[in-house]
Amino acid sequence: GAMPGWDRVEALAVQAHARYASNADGHVADYIPGLAAADPELFGLAVGEIDGSVHGAGACETLFSIQSISKAFVYAMVCDAVGHGVIKDRVGVNNTGLSFNSVIAVELNNGHPMNPMVNAGAIATTALVPGATPAEQWEVIRTGLSRFAGRQLELDGEIYHSEMRTNQRNRAIAQLLESYGRIDIDPSDAVDTYTRQCSLRVSARDLAVMGATLADGGVNPVTGERVVSDQVCRDTLAVLASTGMYERSGEWLFEIGLPAKSGVSGGIVAIAPGKGAIGTFSPLLDSAGNSVRGQLATAYLSRALGLNIFASA
Ligand code: GLN
Repeated sequence: GAMPGWDRVEALAVQAHARYASNADGHVADYIPGLAAADPELFGLAVGEIDGSVHGAGACETLFSIQSISKAFVYAMVCDAVGHGVIKDRVGVNNTGLSFNSVIAVELNNGHPMNPMVNAGAIATTALVPGATPAEQWEVIRTGLSRFAGRQLELDGEIYHSEMRTNQRNRAIAQLLESYGRIDIDPSDAVDTYTRQCSLRVSARDLAVMGATLADGGVNPVTGERVVSDQVCRDTLAVLASTGMYERSGEWLFEIGLPAKSGVSGGIVAIAPGKGAIGTFSPLLDSAGNSVRGQLATAYLSRALGLNIFASA
């Protein structure tokens, strides 16, 4: 069935926020120095519907770097550009069962990145973004993610520089991919562009609109613009269901029943196909790197709004 009425969704968003605002479990990510400064109290969420309405609560307008959530939307753009078969062979669709920045996962699979939601696969995906130069690729990404959000997204320069000083592991992963012939561009350029895409600033509200665009078959329900094809949305949501919440993806799907993507700055976007999306932001993370309040609030909303994709009614 459809989402409940507008006022009901609005009330549930406020309730989900109130319910978990005092939960202070988890830790702020600190392996990127710029992220360690995040305010652990921050908590915002928004529900976006495919009719274009957005219901926010708490710090839903607060901007933060999108981090790994960018992987979902850059993947969708690259699927749209290169097609289902190419991206499937090159990047894969299976969960690694290992942490998002695992080097071993690459080695264990003969240099295959396995899927686009871990760093290896995301860097390989970014390397496939159309454009003759890194500057052109970056412009394609920034413009594409902005279309998903329905507004011009900006780079957080401080986060970008902070990560570029400390991303030796991602550089190693990119070089490893190059050694296996998995990326065709300069690995430093691929990492630079990947780090920029992770540093785009979004709010929980933006995430709700970006997710609702995937829920709506690729049309942004707020601007009415077609961003990607309907087929690309199906491909992207399938990948998110199996890999979007890192090595906890199975558990997440079992408990919450929605394709989703998280990032280490504390964002989560969860998509209910044909209905809408939930965007949450709270920097306190669990040991896999998923926002604690975000997971709780999304679970609550998924249940209350009847969004689980495996439910028959
Ligand atoms: N930019 C971060 C990294 O590459 C993104 C990681 C994440 O959000 N899981 O380490």
